[in-house]
Amino acid sequence: MVRVNLSGIHKASMNKVPDDPVYGRVKNLLQSGDRWPVLLRQLGIPAASLHGKHCPCPGCGGKDRFRFVNKDGSGSFICSQGTGEIVAGNGWTLLQHVYGWSFEKSLAEIAALLLPDVSPKALAYRSAPALRSTRSIPTSSAGSLPSAGPTPSAGLRNVIPAATPMPHEKPVAIDWAHLALDAQKRLAYLEKLQKESVPLHQLTEKTHQRMVQNYFLSRGLGENILLPSHISFHPHMKNSRENWSGPALIAWVTRPVDGPLAFASGKIVGMQRLWLDPRLQTGPQMQSRGKAPLKQAKMSFGIFDQSMVGSSVHLYGSENSPLLVVAEGIETALSWLRLQSMRGALSSASVHACLGTSQIKSWYSPVAYPATVVLQDNDPAGLRACNDFCQLHPGAKIVAPPAEHNDFNDYLMSLSPPSSNRSLSAPCP
Ligand SMILES: [Zn+2]
Repeated sequence: MVRVNLSGIHKASMNKVPDDPVYGRVKNLLQSGDRWPVLLRQLGIPAASLHGKHCPCPGCGGKDRFRFVNKDGSGSFICSQGTGEIVAGNGWTLLQHVYGWSFEKSLAEIAALLLPDVSPKALAYRSAPALRSTRSIPTSSAGSLPSAGPTPSAGLRNVIPAATPMPHEKPVAIDWAHLALDAQKRLAYLEKLQKESVPLHQLTEKTHQRMVQNYFLSRGLGENILLPSHISFHPHMKNSRENWSGPALIAWVTRPVDGPLAFASGKIVGMQRLWLDPRLQTGPQMQSRGKAPLKQAKMSFGIFDQSMVGSSVHLYGSENSPLLVVAEGIETALSWLRLQSMRGALSSASVHACLGTSQIKSWYSPVAYPATVVLQDNDPAGLRACNDFCQLHPGAKIVAPPAEHNDFNDYLMSLSPPSSNRSLSAPCP
């Protein structure tokens, strides 16, 4: 069960209320009763997501990261996105989170349901085909969402993508030589953390090596794992939100569009931090799965809004690898490799973990690999993200774990009791 702290929430929406008579009528109707639950169901959000208890997010999946709150009939929700970065807002924001809809698009869809007299022509958006399932909505119109909640403030803090990135679009280039001042500060913060931490494969301190090894054992990943070079160990990472400081893993996020030297040349668009269970010093922690006892042991950080679009943690391999493997989670990717290794079916691969469904959708490599596999998590958002991925990478093969397991890590954990992990060989792409 994810418990969330509502302070400092970043909204996935903007504040300007449009001066639009249709909006005025829709707004009055929305305020006249508890209309959002019915509307959201009519717009395709499953009733199973709207019962008010923690459940998988209809927008980004997971197990229990989402809760439909519907405070004062506002259609409000809260979602931790599996990254610890919370997205919250009202019904308009929810439509944006689930479908990537602009405010104009949502207004058109809702007006069509609530105002039968409104001519489609009265709504600019209706002039374009309103195809909910394609989600191919121009981002330029995502400008005016009325919403509730605190306003993000500036400074060095966590950011989430402000809107669900549009699939089927290649990520835009970042002008690294002319980053905005705030992005420069954030990048400098990443550089500082890089200096304070050590890449996993270069760890020499025995206690740190042991913690890392015990973490991977706690995730069913075996003892002799090939340590990814884009993940570092930080011995005492601060978490000011939860007043905690402790050992953490930092996964560095880069974008294939920035080229094979992106990481080496410091073109790092963000990071994901995972605070570790301090008891890993003494052995694997199967109950906590190696995570620190925090509300959010895992948190993402981008150098600017949307900087993580099209990004991933590059775990192994190069642009010359014969196989490209793309997964949502780091542990998912490592688990699949381990399963392949256990079957003796592992070949050399370039392996990327995207850290979230929105990044899978927008992930793009300018290099064409001879074969591509995308690893699916077993939830609607996971399937949708993989389908979107295949639009950008025609010919990619979607591989999913057996239906009763949420992801390949769950599947792997079900196969290998902790005691047997030690005897298995590690994935070695
Ligand atoms: Zn979500």
